[in-house]
Amino acid sequence: MENLTNINVIKDIFSRHGFTFSKALGQNFIINPSVCPKIAEMGNAREGFGIIEIGTGVGVLTNELAKRADKVVAVEIDERLLPILNETLSEYENVTVINADVMKTDLKAVIDEHFSGLEAAVCANLPYYITSPIIMYLLESRLPVKSITVMVQKEAGVRLCAKPGSRECGAVTAAVNYYAEPKLLFNVSRGSFMPAPNVDSCVIRLDIRETPPVEVSDEKFFFKVVRGAFSQRRKNLANSLSSSMGMNKQIVIEAIRAAGLSENIRPEQLTLQQFADVAEKLSKEE
Ligand code: SAM
Repeated sequence: MENLTNINVIKDIFSRHGFTFSKALGQNFIINPSVCPKIAEMGNAREGFGIIEIGTGVGVLTNELAKRADKVVAVEIDERLLPILNETLSEYENVTVINADVMKTDLKAVIDEHFSGLEAAVCANLPYYITSPIIMYLLESRLPVKSITVMVQKEAGVRLCAKPGSRECGAVTAAVNYYAEPKLLFNVSRGSFMPAPNVDSCVIRLDIRETPPVEVSDEKFFFKVVRGAFSQRRKNLANSLSSSMGMNKQIVIEAIRAAGLSENIRPEQLTLQQFADVAEKLSKEE
């Protein structure tokens, strides 16, 4: 296959197929030749693995995944890319492209159908308009995957990989840490894409945990508390929780104190265990 990181090759493909970028679909394609091999290698694309890719673009990462893994299933929402992929992936027999919205795709069924006898992992350069929802969808559906390796906007990567209890922490940090061990792998400059976005990016890997690091009796309620805690960023935990959960402030303060914390504590200061403790106390007040 021709070099899919070469701008002239891409321009030629686009003009032959009459393709133009869709900003709404977050189409920024990788043109830096060193990035995709690294994502594939660090993302478990190797013998014995089936890889799910989300958003193929012209298939630049798909190619690197298909070279290394036993099987690749790529989910791409934009049907205009299908004839292009027919061309750019023609030499691989181990790739299946599904034309669908990943958020409406039963990925567990995909794994069962396509990856029999293989371990599974996810690799993607995610569309930025929908990064967190996709990551949460993958985690909450408890996909049987070893890792999720994704390119995201740099600030999103910092937040996703922040340590719970640190300043950069948000609701998504706590959720990610509950399901996985996140690692920031490497940074990617905005010039590595066509068209170049306004921000830099980074690649992170979430290594899926076999069991969560904290015990919670009601997961749904635990995540309701976490989301509620961060719903009003500038408020302290007591104010945030009482307004987002519609609970009496004094009751919330008592639950926070009963968890051994100061009533003025801010949500970003809590560890996962402390969130679990507060949720446990609050669940008794519901
Ligand atoms: N993997 C390619 C690359 O690195 O050059 C393309 C990455 S581009 C940032 C994101 C891709 O995701 C685009 O091809 C876009 O059409 C696709 N996409 C956007 N929203 C999607 C969705 N909800 N489900 C599946 N694919 C989606």
